[in-house]
Amino acid sequence: MTTRATAYRDTQLLIGGEWRAARSGADLPVLNPATDTEIGRLARAGEEDLAEAVSAAAEGFAVWRKTSAYDRARIMREAARLLRERARDIAVLMTLEQGKPIAQAEVEVIGAADTIEWFAEEGRRAGGWVIPARSDDVRVLAIKEPIGPVAAFTPWNFPINQIVRKLSAALAAGCSIIVKAPEETPASPAELIRAFVDAGVPAGVIGLVYGDPAEISQYLIAHPVIRKVTFTGSTAVGKHLAALAGSHMKPATMELGGHAPALVFDDYPADQAAAALAASKFRNAGQVCISPTRFLVQDMVHDAFVDNFVRHAINLKVGDGLDPATTMGPLANKRRIGALEELIADALDKGASLATGGRRIGNHGYFFEPTVLTDVTPEMRICNEEPFGPVALMIRFSTEADAVNEANRLPFGLAAYAFTTSAARTQRLLDGIEAGMITMNHINLGLPEYPFGGIKDSGYGSEGGQEAIHAYLNTKMTSVKSDL
Ligand code: NAD
Repeated sequence: MTTRATAYRDTQLLIGGEWRAARSGADLPVLNPATDTEIGRLARAGEEDLAEAVSAAAEGFAVWRKTSAYDRARIMREAARLLRERARDIAVLMTLEQGKPIAQAEVEVIGAADTIEWFAEEGRRAGGWVIPARSDDVRVLAIKEPIGPVAAFTPWNFPINQIVRKLSAALAAGCSIIVKAPEETPASPAELIRAFVDAGVPAGVIGLVYGDPAEISQYLIAHPVIRKVTFTGSTAVGKHLAALAGSHMKPATMELGGHAPALVFDDYPADQAAAALAASKFRNAGQVCISPTRFLVQDMVHDAFVDNFVRHAINLKVGDGLDPATTMGPLANKRRIGALEELIADALDKGASLATGGRRIGNHGYFFEPTVLTDVTPEMRICNEEPFGPVALMIRFSTEADAVNEANRLPFGLAAYAFTTSAARTQRLLDGIEAGMITMNHINLGLPEYPFGGIKDSGYGSEGGQEAIHAYLNTKMTSVKSDL
């Protein structure tokens, strides 16, 4: 690993095609969560920078909307190629700033290339349609047009994946976009965007800013040039930004929190369900909006499931993500440690038991033990608030109706999982569980061609599948009479 991106570098803003510092010179530190030490700085945009970014986005939009879908796709495919070529170096940056094991970081970068290619192709198919007119001399067309400059706000848990869905859909549709990327993990998103710039995306089509999230969202969402808002993050912030977007009549896509139920029935082999679910639970140290969190396990298989699950948790190797042997890295920031400690203490106070884990590891870096709590009940805060960490909650149930009631009890509705061999029950669960995404007997979400999004407090809009690009397109009805 000797190429240019392996050493962590300071991160700049991208405004009007120029990588640069903030006009004020302000910057912020970036910490490595595995060592709790500063590894670099990032430029902190102020109002002057934001004003320039918006003007550039307006200019970029004027150019990009006139670029053919074919040429947009060609440039996007080149960005994907560059990303694959640079995947290892970018993964190192991501692990340094976010903490996840290097193999997971690399999968994220390569997955992003896949997403870019898929949306590039979707852009070439996003045409309108012909409507039969009521008169022979009239032609009626429904035309798809890019919605306009987009403001995107993305979090630190998947520094590239959370951006690439928004960025690729917007670009494929012909929109320009300003990304407010996560301040905790700025360098890997900058490399994602560098691949697009190097591939030939014209100046102003993509802007990249960092700074005070509330200041930036307030400015961009209210700005008349911005025509669409997209956010991934917590439900609380999402509700605030959705209200702001609504007050300016801007359409919004909201990918918010979850508290995914995983239902395991006693007709399914407990060891197989535990293996699949434990691998998913502890990926990215549980800091995943679709992470299985409430494990609803039927009486007969409960103990075997918990035993198997705990064995997987104990076998994880927690450490610095750059060590290839590591299977779970640190939490991404210090806030998560305090949040988890509080939630676990509350659960133990209210009668939960620790099957394994429960504590911070050492005091150097933000490492936390893979944790399994049993005898969890709905009164516990952790059973209602998204833990967003490596904590699994075991809840025993007797009847299918009890399990479905518990699955649907929370205001969240993002992902849900179930394991059963009964065909009749499969159909009932697919109908009865309130979630935007359900996978059964395996865990398989998040591919670019699959719809991705939640219902209820988990947000609205889809960032995958055929409909994703339409969040970035307007439909215009046109009717032309040809006779004089
Ligand atoms: P937070 O609620 O402070 O922030 C969540 C994200 O929103 C961050 O990226 C932050 O920069 C951004 N943000 C916050 N205020 C904003 C504003 N006014 N305008 C624009 N962006 C704003 O929480 P946090 O401590 O960073 O993360 C904790 C919680 O956030 C987690 O418990 C989880 O529920 C949620 N979260 C969800 C996802 C997801 O993938 N859906 C990702 C990261 C965090």
